Amino acid sequence: MTMMQDLATPVPNTWCPGCGNFGLLMAMKRAIIQLDIEREQVVAVSGIGCHGKITDYIKVNALHVIHGRVLPAATAIKLANQDLTVIGFAGDGDAYNIGMGHLPHAARRNINITYIVHDNLVYGLTTGQTSPTSKKGYMSKTTPRGAFEPGINPLTQALASDATFVSRGYAGDMHHLTEIFKRAISHEGFALVDVLQPCVAWNRVNTFEFYKERVYKLEEVGHDERDIELAYQRAAEWGEKIPIGVFYRADRPTYMQNFPVLQKGPLVKQRIAGDTSDLLKEFM
Ligand code: SF4
Repeated sequence: MTMMQDLATPVPNTWCPGCGNFGLLMAMKRAIIQLDIEREQVVAVSGIGCHGKITDYIKVNALHVIHGRVLPAATAIKLANQDLTVIGFAGDGDAYNIGMGHLPHAARRNINITYIVHDNLVYGLTTGQTSPTSKKGYMSKTTPRGAFEPGINPLTQALASDATFVSRGYAGDMHHLTEIFKRAISHEGFALVDVLQPCVAWNRVNTFEFYKERVYKLEEVGHDERDIELAYQRAAEWGEKIPIGVFYRADRPTYMQNFPVLQKGPLVKQRIAGDTSDLLKEFM
C-alpha cells in the first residue's frame, strides 16, 4: 500500500510560496494513495514550465520531455505497457500552444491516459507573458494594451475532439480536486483535467480570491455529465460564475481495445517474432 512518505522526494521545492501548484501536487499524491496504486505502476510525464518540476516532487517513474510533447511521450509509454497508469502534466502554454496539435488526436483516439493541465492563464516560468488561455483584455509585458484575442477554451476544444472525459478542477479546493483526479485516472479512455492553478507571482487577475468568489461545483447543481449539449453550455461559462467538476463523460472503446495485438497483453511482455538484429544495429 502506498503511503504519503513513499511519494516524497528529497528534491527541494522551488515553486513560489503560495503557488497553486502545491495544491495540485498534494491532490495528485492523495489520489494515487486513495486509489491504492503502487508508485512503481505510475509514470508521470511533464513538459516545460513551472508545472514541469512536478516530476521532481513526486516519487513515481517520471519523464521530463521537451516543450509541448507530453501527449506523444505519454501515448508511447501507454502503448508499450498498457498495465501502467500514465499521467501527463502540462502547463497552459505547453498544452494549448506549442502542444495543441496533440490534444485532439489523443482525445479522438481515446488513448487511456490522464492529462492534467496546470492552467494559470499566464506564462509563469518566463516571468509573466500572455498565454493561450489568458482572457481577452489581459494585460502583460507582451500585451501591454490588453490581449486582442479571446483565450482558448480547453474544455470546448476537448469536447469538439470527442474526448470521453472532460473536467475542470481548482487548485484551491484540494478535496474536490483529489476526487476529480481519482475519477480521471479511473476513467477508461482519455481524460482531461484542466486545473485552475493560480500563479501568485505573475497573474494578478486570476487569483485565489478571484476563483473563491466564482467557482461552483457542477455536481451541486444537478449537472448531467452524459449530456454533451449541456457540457458545451457549462464549458462556455466564465464570468461571475465559473463551474468546476466533470463536464462530460462517455463510454467508447479505448485505442488499445481496437488493436488485436494489444489484447494479448502489454507489448513489453510479448515475444518479438522474427529476427530483429538488423533493426537493433541501427540503434547501436
Ligand atoms: Fe507558481 Fe507562478 Fe511561481 Fe511558477 S511563477 S512557481 S506558476 S507562482
